[in-house]
Amino acid sequence: MKNHSFVPDMMFDSVFEIEPEMLIERNIRAVVLDIDNTLVTYGVAEPTEEVIAWIETLKSAGLHVAIASNNHEPRVALFNKKLGVFTTWESKKPSARSVKTACEHFGVKAEEAVVIGDQIFTDVWCARNAGALAILVKPIPYPENLFFKCKRILEKPFIRTYRRRHQNK
Ligand SMILES: [Mg+2]
Repeated sequence: MKNHSFVPDMMFDSVFEIEPEMLIERNIRAVVLDIDNTLVTYGVAEPTEEVIAWIETLKSAGLHVAIASNNHEPRVALFNKKLGVFTTWESKKPSARSVKTACEHFGVKAEEAVVIGDQIFTDVWCARNAGALAILVKPIPYPENLFFKCKRILEKPFIRTYRRRHQNK
């Protein structure tokens, strides 16, 4: 049955806590990544060594890796220069389009994909629309504007629900 919940399937403080084995265990074959505040903050144009190394561990484990960003092409293209992964830009998440495009490219089903991002109403919702697994990470600290602050407040009940469900695990 299709999952319509805004509650993420898994939550981590940072992407670096996500090991390929935990994804493979869940039959995941493709990882679709958000950039901004997930891998780096808005102000950082290129991936850090840590990001490059983490993506390399995913690839070495046999996972397909894609970037799906709502940001513009120049930002995504420059960020991807050292990574060379499949990218979509202006993805209009929560639209499922970018995930579907990536899955088609890799020849995997949407339920074999995971969307990893820092926002419930963008990344988790996108995963739900696509029928993919949803992993929420804590946004990398960044001085956020009022619009983002409001969104974070609206996200709280879903994060609390996740914590309640997983507190005994
Ligand atoms: Mg983001």
